[in-house]
Amino acid sequence: MFFTIDGRGRHQQFAGPWIRMQTAAGANRSPRTASGVRLAGPRVVTCQRSSGRQPARRNQATKATSVSSDGAAGEVWNAVQMVQQIRVTCTHDCPDACSALVTVDDGIAVGIGADNSHPVTGRHLCAKVDRYLERVYDPARLTTPLRRVGKKGAGEFEPISWEQAVDEIGAQWTGIIDESGAEAILPFSYLGNMGVLSAFGPMFGLFNHLGASQLERGICGGQALAITAALGAMQVDPELVTETEMIVCWGIDVVSTSIHTWDLIREARKRGARLVVVDPYRSATARRADDHLAIRPGTDGALALGVAKVMIDEGLVDQAYIDDYTSGYEAFALSASDWPVDRVADVTGLSETQILAFARGYAQASPAVIRFGVGMQRAAGAGMAVRALQCLPALAGHWRHLGGGIANARTIPMTGREKMWGPGNPELGEPLTTRSFNMIQLGQALTDASLDPPIRALFVWNSNPAVITGDQNRVLAGLARTDLFTVVHDLFLTDTARYADIVLPAPSMIEHEDLVASWGFNYIGLNRAAIAPVGESKPNSEVARLLATRMNLDDPLFAMTDDELIRHCLSGSAAEAAGAGYDSLDQDGFVQVQHPGGEVPFAHGGFPGSVDGRFEFSSVLFDQAFGLGAIPRFIEPAESPESQPDLARRFPLRLLTLKRHFSINSSYGDLPVLRGAEPELRIELHPDDAAQRGVASGDRVDVFNERGRVSGMADVSTAVTPGVVVVPFGRWLDGGQGANALTSDRLGDLGGGPTFCDALVEIEAAGVPHQ
Ligand code: SF4
Repeated sequence: MFFTIDGRGRHQQFAGPWIRMQTAAGANRSPRTASGVRLAGPRVVTCQRSSGRQPARRNQATKATSVSSDGAAGEVWNAVQMVQQIRVTCTHDCPDACSALVTVDDGIAVGIGADNSHPVTGRHLCAKVDRYLERVYDPARLTTPLRRVGKKGAGEFEPISWEQAVDEIGAQWTGIIDESGAEAILPFSYLGNMGVLSAFGPMFGLFNHLGASQLERGICGGQALAITAALGAMQVDPELVTETEMIVCWGIDVVSTSIHTWDLIREARKRGARLVVVDPYRSATARRADDHLAIRPGTDGALALGVAKVMIDEGLVDQAYIDDYTSGYEAFALSASDWPVDRVADVTGLSETQILAFARGYAQASPAVIRFGVGMQRAAGAGMAVRALQCLPALAGHWRHLGGGIANARTIPMTGREKMWGPGNPELGEPLTTRSFNMIQLGQALTDASLDPPIRALFVWNSNPAVITGDQNRVLAGLARTDLFTVVHDLFLTDTARYADIVLPAPSMIEHEDLVASWGFNYIGLNRAAIAPVGESKPNSEVARLLATRMNLDDPLFAMTDDELIRHCLSGSAAEAAGAGYDSLDQDGFVQVQHPGGEVPFAHGGFPGSVDGRFEFSSVLFDQAFGLGAIPRFIEPAESPESQPDLARRFPLRLLTLKRHFSINSSYGDLPVLRGAEPELRIELHPDDAAQRGVASGDRVDVFNERGRVSGMADVSTAVTPGVVVVPFGRWLDGGQGANALTSDRLGDLGGGPTFCDALVEIEAAGVPHQ
């Protein structure tokens, strides 16, 4: 008889034929690595493997946890190798933050699978991380520091030692600081690895102690974050979508970008919930929905206001909730009255019937929940659109009910990350000590000759700005500057790294320690190093320590190991207060943290951002601090036939840049096995638009505007709304141009967010000269 060890340390029956497992030394005590780091909890196990049967090299988690119930069984096997299973928490920029088990055989990772003890992510991983070990052991991994020997962008480098690399970086920075001041250095990073140490850790301390320029990081959901910070009220536990009668996925394709949200939605639908998707594209989620509202890009605010008007006109609002727990309703109702259904239909491209049905269904569901994504936050008026959308659950009184409202999780700020910031921490209310640049406007920052001092050094980690920032050709022009000293820390020679002077090898997520806070669910997890770093790769926390030493910085932060930093951050943090202290995480691998307001946080008001706890339909803060007006309103896209009719005569189609199923922004953009799913850049357009241009599926086409030109293969499809062209986001350039060659670096109305779905373009057969 054989058993698996489940996530709670219990044994379950299993028919595995060949592995005998035993818990690691001390059975209930986690082992430690040579550096003293405790490995994941009691579920770290070793086993003796039969010499006669080799395990598959992938997805071995279930088999590898097989255990014999017969203590004598081991005697009949020729056990020769030690196999361990280490719990990691996925550090990708994904809301789910999955707990996973990595099977390690003699120091080599041989399998990765879902950790079935995790209540949300335990069933499976996603299409990307199922193939993670191919990424870990990809022959294209960088294994040593590199120094550029060819032209910028040519990708010609020679290997150097870490000592040489650190010394050269230090020498360059010292010279630049002496001549121009530290603000001539710009750190650039995002959530390519969203571990708290990797994404918010000692690298910040390093640059802030140096006095470098700051980076504003609003590229994903800056609008929603700004509103949450100001008004709160987006905090229904996403796991509670199962308790609702209607789920609205607004601007998010959860099947491709949050697969475990999709699991919960499927569960809710089995119980009778309806799924409505608001998305200009018939995404994988939209294809499975009960209703798909294919609105024009950037018109979400108009739809939200139109829905509000239907609810108000037809008496579908919860007047008692409005009276007791909100303020400013009359002013909002007056503003919404400008949005009769025919006007909403005209602006959004939806039919009046669709809008009416959605509004009535939403109001009458008991309750409805909205899960919105970054898709709707990539237009000029996205901040106001989120504000308008935020009013809907207050109107309907959905906040009264379990699961009703707006689902969101914000565990990252609970982790004590601010302790690694260094001086001038805005999260602590301290004024910034140096100038700042929005990451979306990197091209401007690198090419603006009037800047004083100019940006003379760029350090990039956890990001690939050549691909993911707006106005790509301007970014590339900046990166090509011969007087710009660029360092890139990454796993692969990305499009950005090809322009670097020094490239530093980074570890994959199974090669370093970190603390991971989910932004899709209320969990915080530990990520333990399952294997030693591949080659000479080092985590950016270690890079920060090396560079801090080279730059003579002596903050105690730089003397801490990663494990000490994790303890330091968690000590006294909100996470610790919510049960996710170091010991709990060390013991269990992950901890669910609770919203302080409980499962129905706003049933009786108590909205954290308002003066009196009422939900503010009319916000003084938005009027005075943000200058956007107190009442939500629709802001037309910056580039649309309505806002720029002259431009639309030359570029009549609206651009929609889409996240993809087999990559995460630009991560995995090069992994051969996943790229095989999309061997060519696929440019989708509606049959009506294709017919007007004589384009057929399979034709080579160019999408272009005044900023750039992207080549690909046409895919004529009714999945695309008429008048819209879809270009996938995040694909590596390979010497060409990507979706962001077409986007601008214009910022949205709030939170420094991008406008990647707010651009006009035209499409033509490739090779046809543009007139
Ligand atoms: S990318 Fe997302 S869904 Fe995939 S394993 Fe990581 S956290 Fe889970």
